[in-house]
Amino acid sequence: MEHPENNEEYKGLTVNSGVKQPSIVNPYLKRGHFRRREISVGDMVDGIIKGDVTILSQAVTLVESVNPAHQQKAQEVIEKCLPYSGSSIRIGISGVPGAGKSTSIDQFGIHVLERTGGKLAVLAIDPSSERSKGSILGDKTRMEKLALHPDAFIRPSPTAGSLGGVARKTRESIILCEAAGFDKIFVETVGVGQSETACHSMVDFFLLIQLAGTGDELQGIKRGIMEISDGIVINKCDGNNVDKCQMAATNFRNALHFFPMPDSGWLPKVLCYSGFYGTGIKEIWDMVYEYIDFVKHNGYFNYRRNEQAKYWMYESINENLRNSFYNNVQVQESILRSEQSVLNGEKTSFAAAADLLSMYFDLLRKEK
Ligand code: GDP
Repeated sequence: MEHPENNEEYKGLTVNSGVKQPSIVNPYLKRGHFRRREISVGDMVDGIIKGDVTILSQAVTLVESVNPAHQQKAQEVIEKCLPYSGSSIRIGISGVPGAGKSTSIDQFGIHVLERTGGKLAVLAIDPSSERSKGSILGDKTRMEKLALHPDAFIRPSPTAGSLGGVARKTRESIILCEAAGFDKIFVETVGVGQSETACHSMVDFFLLIQLAGTGDELQGIKRGIMEISDGIVINKCDGNNVDKCQMAATNFRNALHFFPMPDSGWLPKVLCYSGFYGTGIKEIWDMVYEYIDFVKHNGYFNYRRNEQAKYWMYESINENLRNSFYNNVQVQESILRSEQSVLNGEKTSFAAAADLLSMYFDLLRKEK
């Protein structure tokens, strides 16, 4: 624009127009210039099978995404990876916060990698990460040695969705990791709520980490979780805690005798160790490998994997039905009104549920 002082009024005075200022936005940063090339399903599958960890991470991110387009692509990738999966051992590791899971997994991971070579993926199921927005199992740096190991892949828990949703994503990530050549998978979970059951439904061996407490630890531990454990290990067996740990181990062993023999035919063992000082680790892994040999021999290994595959089919149906119902706009519009009628005593819970469901099924019929 011409400078105002160049106007007739200011005769005799000439002002130059000055230097044109560049845009404050770097033009090369405009969308599209540096955009990462979207990788095709075929290239993603090839990358995974070649063991490319960057591509594997991208695929796991797709699995975890809530975007329907990403979900669809993720499903295609998983389907193509499926024939390359299955040939790993999957170990679930559970314990309450503070039990020493991360310290132990760091030690366990290094131990199994030194013992058998191969590659290890550490995945997690942490339902708390959605509720509190702060993940208990989300911090990679908790496993200092493993995080630096070239043959280890550590992935924090997926965050979005219900426990079922989080667990499904972890289960699907196992398939991708196996296709990428990870022959050992650890699935870490917090020993609170239902997450152990979800973890148990995707692993070959479920290891429960316990602490020796005041002698009444057996009362605090849920019966269900002892029943699904293939091994119970008592951590922090060091310093002046050794006697207490051994006593706790005896109590656990005695308690296990009151449970029916598990379907695997394997009586769970109870061992003491110290994740911090690295003692007793070898014995734990002798136990795990002994179990794997035992169940591969008696057929339970395959039986359990088949049962798990069935379980996940039904879980997936349930999750999809639930999402379809709750994401339906009309359902969303009516559900709060129904809730209020239940609270006001105008309708029973069952009648309200039946009305909402029949409205939903009618809508589906009309859509056809
Ligand atoms: P997580 O919450 O289950 O992952 O537990 P962490 O691995 O973070 O451990 C919780 C605390 O227990 C940390 O302060 C660890 O240093 C400590 N800890 C872990 N393992 C041992 C152990 O074998 N002996 C002792 N004395 N402390 C341990």
